[in-house]
Amino acid sequence: MRVVGVIGAGAAGLCAARHALASTGLSPVVWEKSSQVGGTWVYTPHTGKDQDGLPIHSSMYQSLKTNLPKEVMGFPDFPFSSDKEESFIHHSDVLKYLKSYTDNFNLNQCIKFRHHVELVSPVVTDDGTTWQVTVQDLDTKTSSTTVCDALLICNGHYSVPRMPQVKDIERYKGKQVHSHDYREPSPYKGLTVVVLGAAASGLDISLELATVAKEVLLSHNFPLPIPSELPPNMRQVQGVVSALDEGFVFADGSSAQADVIMYCTGYEFTFPFLTDECGVTIENNIVKPLYKHVINSTHPSMGFIGIPFQVCPFPTFDFQVRFFLKMLLEVTLPSKQNMDEITERNLNEQCSAGMAVRHFHRLGSQQWQYNDDLANLSGLPYLPRAIMNLYEAVSAHRRREVMFYKQSRYRITGPESFEQIRSGTSW
Ligand code: FAD
Repeated sequence: MRVVGVIGAGAAGLCAARHALASTGLSPVVWEKSSQVGGTWVYTPHTGKDQDGLPIHSSMYQSLKTNLPKEVMGFPDFPFSSDKEESFIHHSDVLKYLKSYTDNFNLNQCIKFRHHVELVSPVVTDDGTTWQVTVQDLDTKTSSTTVCDALLICNGHYSVPRMPQVKDIERYKGKQVHSHDYREPSPYKGLTVVVLGAAASGLDISLELATVAKEVLLSHNFPLPIPSELPPNMRQVQGVVSALDEGFVFADGSSAQADVIMYCTGYEFTFPFLTDECGVTIENNIVKPLYKHVINSTHPSMGFIGIPFQVCPFPTFDFQVRFFLKMLLEVTLPSKQNMDEITERNLNEQCSAGMAVRHFHRLGSQQWQYNDDLANLSGLPYLPRAIMNLYEAVSAHRRREVMFYKQSRYRITGPESFEQIRSGTSW
C-alpha cells in the first residue's frame, strides 16, 4: 500500500481522504490539529490563541450564513440534503454536512485528531520523492515522523489575515480588527466603523454592523459604487489611503472620523511546515511552482487542494483531488519544464486579459473551464451545467440586491437548469 499523507481535515482534507480510501493501493493518513472535522466551519466565539497556544483557525462569525446557495456547494457525489428549505444556510448546517460526509465515507478511521504537522521534508530517490512528515501529538506533546509516498496539503487559506499597508496607521487611536476576529456586532453599537474591502466578508459584515453601529463606511476600490440598495446608515467611500489620529483619508481626498477600522482584506497563503527543500514559494500571492494550481512540479508527489478562490470550493476540491490521484496512479505527467511553461503561459494570458498578477489563483468565471480541464485530464464527467448557471445567476443577483439575495431559494431541476422557488428581492 502507498501511504498518502493529508494535512488537515477541513472540506479539502476530507475530500482527499474520501477518494484516496476508494483508490486501490492507497492508504490515507490525515493529520488534524483540532479535535474534530470541518476546519473553518467549526465556529468558536474565541479569538487569538487556542488552548494549545496555536492561532485560532476559524474565521466564522456567529450569525454567518453561506454566500453561495447550498445547491451549488456540495461535493458532486454527496449533495446537501434538501431537508432545509433555505438555500443560504447557517454555518452550523455546513458543519453538519461535513460530518455526515465523514460518516458516510467512513473517514474517521484514517484521521488522527489533535495531531499538528510541524515539518515536511522531501526524500528524493531515483523513483521520485517521498515525504517525511513530523507531527506533534498535542495531548502527549510527543513528536513522530511518518514517511509518505504522496502528500496532499489541505491546511486551509482563510486563517492568516492579510493586513494592508495604511500610511500613518501608527497615528490612529481607534480600534483595528481583521474580519478573522469578527464574531458579532454588539461591541460596535453606536460607533462609526470603516469596513475596508467589499468582497463577500466585507459586504456581509458591513450589513450586520449597520444593525447596531452609528454609521458604516464601506471603503473599497471597485470602480463604481455597488449598485444595490444599502441600509440608510451605510455609505460607500473610496479606498483608504492614510490614517489620521481619529479617522481616515480616502482616495478622493475626503476624510471621515471613525472609531474602528474593520479589515476585510482577505487572507495569506501560508505553509509554515514546509522546509525550503520542498521547493514551494509564495510570490505576489501566487503559490509556485504549481501545475494546474495543484501539483508541485518540482516534486509531483505533493499536491495542494483549495488554492483557487472565488470558486465553488467543494466541487473544485473534488476535481483537484481526483486529478492529483489520477496523475499519481495512472498518468505520466509532462516534464517539469513543460508543466512550468503551461503555468507561465496561463499566467501571461490572464495578465493580458487585464488581471492583476496577485489574482492568478482567483478563478471566478474561469472556474468552469478549469474544472473541465481537470476532468479532461483525468477522464472524469463534467460538473452539471446547472451548477454553473445557478452560481453565475446568484453572483449577479448578489451585487444588485446585497441586502436581500440570501432570502431567495433555489432548486436544481435538471442537468442544465434550476428554478427560483422564492425571490429575495426588495420589490
Ligand atoms: P479549512 O476548512 O480551513 O480546513 C483546514 C484544516 O487544516 C483545519 O481543520 C485546520 O485545523 C487544519 N490544519 C491546518 N494546519 C494544520 C497543521 N499544521 N497540522 C494539522 N492540521 C492543520 N465556501 C463555500 O462553499 N460557501 C460559503 O458560503 C463560504 N463562506 C465562507 C465564509 C467565510 C467567512 C470563510 C472564511 C470561508 C467561506 N467559504 C465558503 C470558504 C471555505 O473556506 C471553504 O468552503 C472550505 O471550507 C475550505 O476548506 P479547507 O479544507 O481548504 O480549509
